[in-house]
Amino acid sequence: MDPQKSWMKILNEIKPEVGPANFRAWFSQIDALQIKDQKIVLSVPSAFIESQLKARYFNLISSSLEKVLGEVLQIEFRINPSKLSKNSTLPDGFFDLTTQSSTQNYLNPKYTLENFVVGLSNNVAFAGAQAVVQNPGTSYNPLFLYGGTGVGKTHLMIGVGNALFSKNPSLKIIYCSSEKFMNDYVSAIQEHKMGEFRAKYRSTDVLLIDDIQFFSGREGTQEEFFHTFNELQSKNSQMILTSDRIPNEIAKLEDRLKSRFQGGLMVDIQPPDLDTRVAILRAKCQEKGDIVPEEALKLLASTLETNIRELEGRMMQIMQNLKAQNLPPTVENIAQFLQNTPKHSIQFDYKKLISTVCSYFDLNQKDLTSPKRQKELVLPRHIIMYILCEELGMTVERVGQILGGRDHTTVMHGRDKIKKLLITDRELQTVFIEIKQKIQN
Ligand code: ADP
Ligand code: MG
Repeated sequence: MDPQKSWMKILNEIKPEVGPANFRAWFSQIDALQIKDQKIVLSVPSAFIESQLKARYFNLISSSLEKVLGEVLQIEFRINPSKLSKNSTLPDGFFDLTTQSSTQNYLNPKYTLENFVVGLSNNVAFAGAQAVVQNPGTSYNPLFLYGGTGVGKTHLMIGVGNALFSKNPSLKIIYCSSEKFMNDYVSAIQEHKMGEFRAKYRSTDVLLIDDIQFFSGREGTQEEFFHTFNELQSKNSQMILTSDRIPNEIAKLEDRLKSRFQGGLMVDIQPPDLDTRVAILRAKCQEKGDIVPEEALKLLASTLETNIRELEGRMMQIMQNLKAQNLPPTVENIAQFLQNTPKHSIQFDYKKLISTVCSYFDLNQKDLTSPKRQKELVLPRHIIMYILCEELGMTVERVGQILGGRDHTTVMHGRDKIKKLLITDRELQTVFIEIKQKIQN
């Protein structure tokens, strides 16, 4: 029996139960790899999707399997990140490398220096990146790139990695999120494999670590990284680090690391100005082969003053909507579309947010604010905590009250968790975009 064919039938059962938005968010990227010995093996693109499927849809999947195949099957998930959606509403070239355990050295080929648009907001950083490509290990070591979310830090860093690799394919290059480094370190200790860990990280020619601000408070990791850093620096191995803030503003970071981080070139990337935003949109359209008039790009770039990631996401969302209605992407059509959606940030209050999140996740509002701690309530609660704190600027105490009298430390934990996940997790980003779309309707 062809597992994929059976899986299609199973999906047909599932789809009407969950509705189109949830279906797209959670089920559109799953494949059935095998159905054998009363077990089905499903390939999923990330650990996050797996956890959500288990928490929210396990029973539905089981019962649909039983209905279609006539027997109760065990379900096994396998994570296969190379399948991350091509048809999602979010920008391509966006990869959660934290789940890529087997391919450490994977540099997303979509991020290059050639397709990095240079403007006033990032030209200094770009020049630093070019210097590093010219003289790795000697001109600026480390190169420390900092700036807000979605301004292009990861793109630029990986662009350097790709450029170095094409100059010299025998270079050993490691790219990892700071979390991957921490997790590797922790498992090396637990499994008594420090030797291997050190051999790996201290022998690399190029080490790229993303979002190093998460080293905050991790004393063991910091200690280990300090020695890694010194060793690599003494061998002129190039290091590039990114962070959302300057080293001095990273709380609970050892002083000796702060001074090391500042010892190379520390350069920021600012949010892009209008011209750069237009240029980036133009480049993205060209990459995709979409033909959008210049005036329309300007209109988009001037109306949507957000970071590049969101800007791209919104543009694609608008293009898809126009395509669905068979409308060409003209200035008039786009203007029409933008008029129907509020210009700047979306206006909403916390009640609207809670009801939207509940209907998105198909939950009862009472459960959400109750003390219950079922798995399926946790993520929606955390999302609400994040949006209320970060986007509506509420205090953690107030958010705790709204969510049924929860402690403010619980709120802080939830908020920070989402903040962290949002940086790398494409599915969670999709959820956010969809929730915001729903709030507007
Ligand atoms: P950060 O790491 O700073 O949060 P990313 O590097 O992930 O941001 O960039 C977010 C998105 O914006 C990516 O799709 C990236 O390709 C795009 N992007 C950012 N800056 C530029 C730029 N200058 N030129 C082209 N694309 C860019
Ligand atoms: Mg990044």
